[in-house]
Amino acid sequence: MRAVPAVPALSYSSFRTYQECPLRWRFLYVDRLPETPRGYFTFGRVVHSILEELVAPLVVPSARRVSESDRQRTLDEWHAQPGSASAGHWMSSDELLAAYDRAWSSEGYTSPEEESRYRALGREILLRYYDLLVRERPLPVSVEEHLEARWDGIPVHGYIDRIDRTPAGGLEIVDYKTSRDLSNEDARDSDQLSLYQVLVEKNYAEPVEGLTLYHLRSLTPLRVAPRERGELAGLHDRLGTVMDGIRAEAYEPTPGRQCSRCDFQDRCPEFRAVPAADGERLRGLVDRFESLRAEETRLEGELRRTAEELHRAAEELGVHRVPGSRSVAVRRREEAWQYSLDNVRPLLEKSGLTARVASGTPEEVRRLVRDTTVDPEVRRRVAETGARRVKWYWDLESGNGT
Ligand code: SF4
Repeated sequence: MRAVPAVPALSYSSFRTYQECPLRWRFLYVDRLPETPRGYFTFGRVVHSILEELVAPLVVPSARRVSESDRQRTLDEWHAQPGSASAGHWMSSDELLAAYDRAWSSEGYTSPEEESRYRALGREILLRYYDLLVRERPLPVSVEEHLEARWDGIPVHGYIDRIDRTPAGGLEIVDYKTSRDLSNEDARDSDQLSLYQVLVEKNYAEPVEGLTLYHLRSLTPLRVAPRERGELAGLHDRLGTVMDGIRAEAYEPTPGRQCSRCDFQDRCPEFRAVPAADGERLRGLVDRFESLRAEETRLEGELRRTAEELHRAAEELGVHRVPGSRSVAVRRREEAWQYSLDNVRPLLEKSGLTARVASGTPEEVRRLVRDTTVDPEVRRRVAETGARRVKWYWDLESGNGT
């Protein structure tokens, strides 16, 4: 009998890679094939390492739960210690830039111009962030900490950029991002932050009070509340699906947008070249397919315009059946009611009925309108938000109608 393969703990990036393409995951995590270095990854790595160096001396590590019986020191106790990491341990801005110069790596940049652009951007980000840090004085309890946990049977792990103590005494997870764009939705929907919340909750005694994606280019912290249990359950299910796939060694290629940045196209069946002997024959088929597609598009447009013209004429004459030479065109009517969720939801919010129209299908709204246990006034107002849509189309019947 074949042994069930050992499944490695999932990090966020391993999870996401498998979700995007299981074959790419195999190349990276089983075959351990190297990837081509890319400048923006090198840049992110260097900036992260300097931020770690900058913040590490400020860490008050007492918050970490080593065992259940540990008593946590208060911040006052910490600062009262001789040599504590409060004031005085700040790197100067010159030291910061010197550290940046030492850590700089030219790996992966496509040209000297690109490298110097990134290098200048890094200096600017670090100096601006340094000023902000001096003003705001966060209270980090860890930087770049590697945490592991078993989340209801699923081994997970991750490196967390920073964990801060909040003024209210809880913990805030901070993940730095050097990417160009970042929005509140990114923070709200981030599986990475959700996974980090789980890791911190399983390793620390305090509750997680906030999750932050830190957009370094604009010095903007995108803060969101910690996830509810139900939200985390969704991620747990998806992690479980990935785990099952890895356990079953299911490594199907799944082409998508990620292929453009995948280094393994030459090994991937999706990108296998057509053998030279079959090239001519297949080229002919592709050319024919392309011409037929173009013809299909042209015919669809012509069909639509003819049906519209027929419809206008039938409307003017008030007729529904129009004989041709070989068949009869028959005009059919289809009616549907549509409801806008933006209109329906506010009406239901006060009555706590929003969950009843979770998907917003007309059938769902109709069911609610028919439900006699719901307040008649609410049902009436919801019904009034509906709009009738009539669609006409043409069918052909045999015979010429004479
Ligand atoms: S080229 Fe695309 S389909 Fe093939 S392994 Fe890479 S990501 Fe997957």
